Amino acid sequence: MDVADIRNLMRKTQASIIQNGFLGKRVDDLGNVVASDGVRAMMESALTARDRVGVSDFVLLENFTSEASFIENLRKRFKENLIYTYIGSVLVSVNPYKDLEIYTKNHMERYRGVNFYEVSPHIYAVGDNAYRSMRTERKDQCILISGESGAGKTEASKKILQYYAVTCPVSDQVQTVKDRLLQSNPVLEAFGNAKTLRNDNSSRFGKYMDIQFDFKGGEEDLLRRLGLERNPQQYQYLVKGNCPKVSSINDRSEWKLVRKALTVIGFNDDDVEELLNIIASVLHLGNVQYGEAEEGNSCITSDTQIKYLARLLGVNGAVLTEALTHKKIIAKGEELMSPLNLEQASSARDALSKAVYGRTFTWLVNKINASLTYTEDSSKHYSVIGLLDIYGFEVFQHNSAHWEPVQYFNNKIICDLVEEKFKGIISILDEECLRPGDANDLTFLEKLEDTVGGHAHFVTHKLADTKTRKVMARDEFRLLHYAGEVNYNVNGFLDKNNDLLFRNLKEVMCMSENKILTKCFDREELSDKKRPETAATQFKASLAKLMEILMSKEPSYVRCIKPNDSKQSGRFDEVLIRHQVKYLGLMENLRVRRAGFAYRRRYEVFLQRYKSLCPDTWPSWQGKLPEGVATLVKHLGYKPEEYKMGRSKIFIRFPKTLFATEDALET
Ligand code: ATP
Ligand code: MG
Repeated sequence: MDVADIRNLMRKTQASIIQNGFLGKRVDDLGNVVASDGVRAMMESALTARDRVGVSDFVLLENFTSEASFIENLRKRFKENLIYTYIGSVLVSVNPYKDLEIYTKNHMERYRGVNFYEVSPHIYAVGDNAYRSMRTERKDQCILISGESGAGKTEASKKILQYYAVTCPVSDQVQTVKDRLLQSNPVLEAFGNAKTLRNDNSSRFGKYMDIQFDFKGGEEDLLRRLGLERNPQQYQYLVKGNCPKVSSINDRSEWKLVRKALTVIGFNDDDVEELLNIIASVLHLGNVQYGEAEEGNSCITSDTQIKYLARLLGVNGAVLTEALTHKKIIAKGEELMSPLNLEQASSARDALSKAVYGRTFTWLVNKINASLTYTEDSSKHYSVIGLLDIYGFEVFQHNSAHWEPVQYFNNKIICDLVEEKFKGIISILDEECLRPGDANDLTFLEKLEDTVGGHAHFVTHKLADTKTRKVMARDEFRLLHYAGEVNYNVNGFLDKNNDLLFRNLKEVMCMSENKILTKCFDREELSDKKRPETAATQFKASLAKLMEILMSKEPSYVRCIKPNDSKQSGRFDEVLIRHQVKYLGLMENLRVRRAGFAYRRRYEVFLQRYKSLCPDTWPSWQGKLPEGVATLVKHLGYKPEEYKMGRSKIFIRFPKTLFATEDALET
């Protein structure tokens, strides 16, 4: 007997139990059920099954306020490879860290056009539901996927994409766009992801952190042309993060995939070559070594890297060398080259790498976006489904039909503390970055203490009570987030926020013969007197734009959980999971679901589906929809507290009411 059989059996048995209840025979425990031996045997095995596999919707948990039973249910299901569970319509997913046979074409077909509660929980059901809502309600949808690094967000978004690719009917032109969309994934991942300690394939889109690109495995002569025949361990930028080998990713075959994908999204051979030249140059930049010349000034010790760099970047070697060791200053109207010391020179080099890589990635994203624009008829509004896969994103679903008060932690307090225009942490940081003179990380911390020191969610060593002080360093501040307390060390805050790229390095890049680079480093930027926006401000702005886009759409939620820190299948680390259940707000989700009307159905859908259960509505109801539904539920024996009639939908409070109705169809 496989899981599907068990589920079927469970449903049947539940149906008969509830059915008995409906007929007036009270059933509070097994002993009270007057049933034949066959039915009893069925019920017993169903209960054992339920015991083993848990419930597929947390709303069905008897003790729904208990975190322990929540986690116990997750554990049971995880053990049976049932990685998906609902909280109402929210999907909770636990990363199995192994390939499960649940993403086949057959599975896709099973979820197509089927209601949520009719099939076992699945990411495809979320995708399908969003698609159908988009079509029937004509409202843009978005699917928000949250969870910590390695929890499976990117995998989930890929599964949804694949689902649409297979199940949605399309015209030829859309097919091209769809191919491009699917193919853009390996490209974005190849250039935008990095191996980190937490995840072998961690999304780093838009963040310029560890630059790691394992080139070994590429085509040999290509590697030679790029000057990359060495072992990956010999590139400084590749060993910095202390992540030696990417065990789970096969570079050679991945690279073939990326290469093919680049072609599909419209790159010709020259484009690819230029792109690779840039990536290779970043690796070479990392290996530029500085020595000490007179008076502590820096010089470049070996010419080899510079030669490669000059060729790959399409710039003059001597000019590049000067730019990597000097800074242009303007004194009394005259331009002077002032030498950099060792530390300044290394930061200048790293800033250049980050700028080159970061800007190229942005260019790549724009190019992909452009290739995805579907222009059959620009006057028509096309409905869209947005997929958001980002780290640590949190939006709460508001439910207007509450019956019980639910306590929320209001995250807005923290957002304001960080973002507020004049006295928020980011604006104070920007201010310190702009202030000439003695501004440094510690003066920034002092400014914070002066300005937001009184805030209930902000603490520093100086402001803390004795107990907290013990776990805080002097150069830290602490924020009391929803997920818990986080200490931030201010070391390097100013530099990172400035992400300063000296003017003469920009000039060199503007002279490049590489066509991609000339698009990334625009000469306009040199003449522009305006100071570029700081990193934090840019981030804030793009987040605000994202929020605006999301607010205009109907959301669905997927909450991803990472079962352990060692990327192992089958290991369920309870402490780690409890923490995620907490900060993903799952218990609150559940309480809201239980408190409110957990299920809602449009009148026509409800009537169409269940009309056969009532002689007055069967075979077709001639009157108004709400009246038909009212007649139907009256016949079914719904009690007034079990449901409410809305404008276009019926809201049902208890899942069991709906399940009973659903099961009545089968009997
Ligand atoms: P980050 O925030 O670091 O980008 P993420 O949440 O996007 O992390 P993923 O890259 O999606 O995490 O998942 C990490 C790894 O876990 C995957 O590379 C894959 O090996 C495994 N994994 C995730 N989801 C699944 C799944 N449904 N089935 C099998 N393996 C999975
Ligand atoms: Mg990811």
